[in-house]
Amino acid sequence: MLGLTLKGVSLALREGRISPTELCRKCLNRIKKTQHLNAYITVTEELSLKQAEQSETRLRQGVPIGPLDGIPFAVKDNFSTRNIKTTCGSRMLKDYTPPYNATVVQKLLDQGAVLMGKTNMDEFAMGSGSTDGIFGPVRNPWSYATSYLTQSGASPDSDWVISGGSSGGSAAAVASLTSYLALGSDTGGSTRNPGALCGVVALKPTYGLLSRHGLIPLVNSMDVPGIITRSAADAAIVLGILQGFDVKDSTTVPSPSSPQELPEDFDVRNICVGIPKEYHAPGLSQDILAQWSRVADLFESAGARVKQVSLPHTPYSIVCYHVLCCAEVASNMARFDGLEYGHRSEMNSSTEVMYTSTRHEGFNDVVRGRILSGNYFLLKQNYQHYFVKAQKVRRLIADDFRRVFSSGVDVLLTPTTLADAARYHHFTQEDNRTRSTQEDVFTQPANVAGLPAVSVPVSLSTRGLPIGLQLIGPALEDRKLLSIAQWLEERVGFQSISDSDDSQQSRNVTGRTQREQTSAV
Ligand code: GLN
Repeated sequence: MLGLTLKGVSLALREGRISPTELCRKCLNRIKKTQHLNAYITVTEELSLKQAEQSETRLRQGVPIGPLDGIPFAVKDNFSTRNIKTTCGSRMLKDYTPPYNATVVQKLLDQGAVLMGKTNMDEFAMGSGSTDGIFGPVRNPWSYATSYLTQSGASPDSDWVISGGSSGGSAAAVASLTSYLALGSDTGGSTRNPGALCGVVALKPTYGLLSRHGLIPLVNSMDVPGIITRSAADAAIVLGILQGFDVKDSTTVPSPSSPQELPEDFDVRNICVGIPKEYHAPGLSQDILAQWSRVADLFESAGARVKQVSLPHTPYSIVCYHVLCCAEVASNMARFDGLEYGHRSEMNSSTEVMYTSTRHEGFNDVVRGRILSGNYFLLKQNYQHYFVKAQKVRRLIADDFRRVFSSGVDVLLTPTTLADAARYHHFTQEDNRTRSTQEDVFTQPANVAGLPAVSVPVSLSTRGLPIGLQLIGPALEDRKLLSIAQWLEERVGFQSISDSDDSQQSRNVTGRTQREQTSAV
């Protein structure tokens, strides 16, 4: 049951093959067995069992609310959840309990989905490893897969690999079979990056399609709630439920009316796939390059038109992203002053000392570094040179995409990450800020331009770890993007690669052994 997709388990619930309470207990057990992954910050055991019982009553009476009724899900710890701690992985909000639910969380609860817990992340979603939060790093479930251990000769105790980030807990929760769906957030790639490294489907919807109300902001003009599932079809179901105008978020748009289920027979012969030449970035691994061209060939041999395209401003995107990101961070983080929310320093000899020490104690150096850079970019004498210029570059980047899509290209095919998951000890040796910048190279342009993008797992690397490729589509064509993703998913058969590799089994067994042997992370 735990290995099924959301769609599959939803059917099993409806056919009475398992009850919501049994399913919830299985997931809770699984969370305990995989504790060493450190995917969850808070497990909402009592609440989930209560919600499962309510769902059970509805199903028994033959009145399920919809396809999510009784489905276990997880939520990144930067979405507000009523009466449940929402920490953002930061000392600043370690004990913060919001009085309301984020709109997307409320929508899932309204559908009868069962909340298993809040997932681990980089502090305030700044990072690409899930190595930078106060609750410790997230371990990638694939660290314990037979494929990785045998092909790379790794030892599970010392050579475990990162989950990617910043929504690493959410990706690990879905990949380790403790939830069928998880919410991440995606500002520069934080849903797609861990999705690719953990071998799950990760959708960053069009900006404005999903409400940000209750998502603690990083970069308001780029943040979107992300959807992590085991299949594109599952992502489409969740998207259908979550999308739409929200009076509490003035940047939301009405949802394009469309059914939740994807068409079974999407015909790729009618589509044109663009391969942006600027995405041949330095540092791209041979494994990813090989998969990129294999998948392009798959499209071509199925009758799609595949052509090279140019997005000439791509090389400027990462700098543009960082200037705008830091500027918005500087402004967003001003609310954490020790007065209204979260941590307040004991050092209060003056108001200024209290502010300074609260922020020094509450934020890690990545967050403080971005606040500092952002305030520098926003200084009166720098504003035109950095902030305004970055806004102009942003327009050029968006125009590049618009030009390509209006020339008849339906979708762009690119890598999601430069390489497969790095070993934790290797990743943390390097300065994480530099590393973060490199990791976002393929993902942040879609945020800068507000476009939908999805990472689809396509293969295992030579080290036996998942590789994902990214599809980017025109604004508001999320559903078509997922139809193409579904086609790709069926062609590459990643699910059966991962099952036949016996990795789910080994992730289970080895994971348990690992937990018993060590005192976890
Ligand atoms: N790595 C990016 C950053 O640190 C991703 C942020 C995100 O998408 N939340 O800015």
